[in-house]
Parts: sequence; C-alpha cells; structure tokens
Amino acid sequence: MTHRLIVMGKQGAGKGTQCLRLTERYNIPHISTGDMLRSAVAAGTELGQRAKSVMDAGDLVPDDLMMSIVDERLRESDASEGFVLDGFPRTSAQAEWLDGALAPGGIDLAISIDVPDEIVVARMLARGREDDTEDAIRRRLDLYSEQTAPLLDHFAAAERLISIDGFGDEDTVEARLAEAIDTRLENPGGNP
Ligand code: AMP
Repeated sequence: MTHRLIVMGKQGAGKGTQCLRLTERYNIPHISTGDMLRSAVAAGTELGQRAKSVMDAGDLVPDDLMMSIVDERLRESDASEGFVLDGFPRTSAQAEWLDGALAPGGIDLAISIDVPDEIVVARMLARGREDDTEDAIRRRLDLYSEQTAPLLDHFAAAERLISIDGFGDEDTVEARLAEAIDTRLENPGGNP
C-alpha cells in the first residue's frame, strides 16, 4: 500500500510535528518545499538566488519552478512508495500538475489539520517570536484561507480529502491522523 500524502494546515496547526510523526510511522520521506527552497538559498544555488527575494517578500515562487523542483524530488527512489508532501501544492495549477505527475493513481490522501483561528493565534502569540505579532498572524491566516480553500475543494472533489481535528496534544492528534489514514487507505471505496 502506498502512502502518498499531502498535509495541509495553518501556521500553528501542528503541521510540522505531525509531518515528522507520519514519516516515522510509515517510513516515508518528508518533502517540504519550504525547506528545499531554504536550503537552496543557504547554498546560494541559482534556484536559491531566484527564490530568495520572492520568499523575503512573502510571495509565492513561480509555479513552473516549483513543479520542476518537486518533479525531480518525486523521482528519487525513496519516494517510490510514498511521501509526506508539505507546502505543495499551494496553487490550483500546482494541484493539477501534481495529478498529472502522479497519474494514473494520483495522491492517496490530502489531510487537513483543522484548528480554529483563535487557538492558532493564542499558540503563536505564546511562542513569542518577533514576527509573530497578532496582525501578522492574522494576515497569514487570511492568506492561508484564500489560497488553500480552493485546493481543499480540489481534493474533496476527488474524494481524497480528510479533515482532522488538530485540537489536543501531539500524541492525541497523531492517533487521530493515523486512524483516519489507515481506515481510508484500507477501504479505498468506503465513506470517510
Ligand atoms: P513554507 O516553509 O512552506 O511556509 O514556505 C516558505 C516560502 O517558500 C513560502 O512563503 C513561499 O515563498 C515559498 N514556497 C514554499 N512552497 C511553495 C510552493 N508550493 N509554491 C510557491 N512558493 C512556495
């Protein structure tokens, strides 16, 4: 059984922690496009040079560049049985491209970790980083809803979306995720 997973969630939803737990549980690589871009910037590659100003401005790196990075990564042998994709797709064009790149099967599941805005804001403020002012946090949350809602619809239409309640401690949320994933992948035709 393959585990080709996409994990989506607002900043502060616990996405990073849960991605790591999934990589251990299913022995699959964590493919984070944000991490890949940050390493390219740190290494000063041509890609890094192109991406840096875009990332600094908080904008999205062009789709064609992102697709070629992800295409290359998905071809590596460790991704043949599955992966946890984190930060990709971020646009409808990327989502459509991914369907084609993984055809005929496509991804197995997209998982949305849902946490109410008020809880995310409280968590982020408690973390106390300088760029975590309430205004900045709310702006990122608005952007997430704007950019992500259509992607969730895309996966829901393909009956590949599960939504998980992200409220609770890390072990509790992990148990919810694992149960939902295992149930769905073992009964592909079944209802969520
Ligand atoms: P992240 O760590 O996922 O928040 O990504 C950090 C930054 O990298 C984003 O703010 C974007 O500038 C860029 N980035 C990461 N993934 C993508 C993507 N799929 N499409 C476009 N830009 C991306």
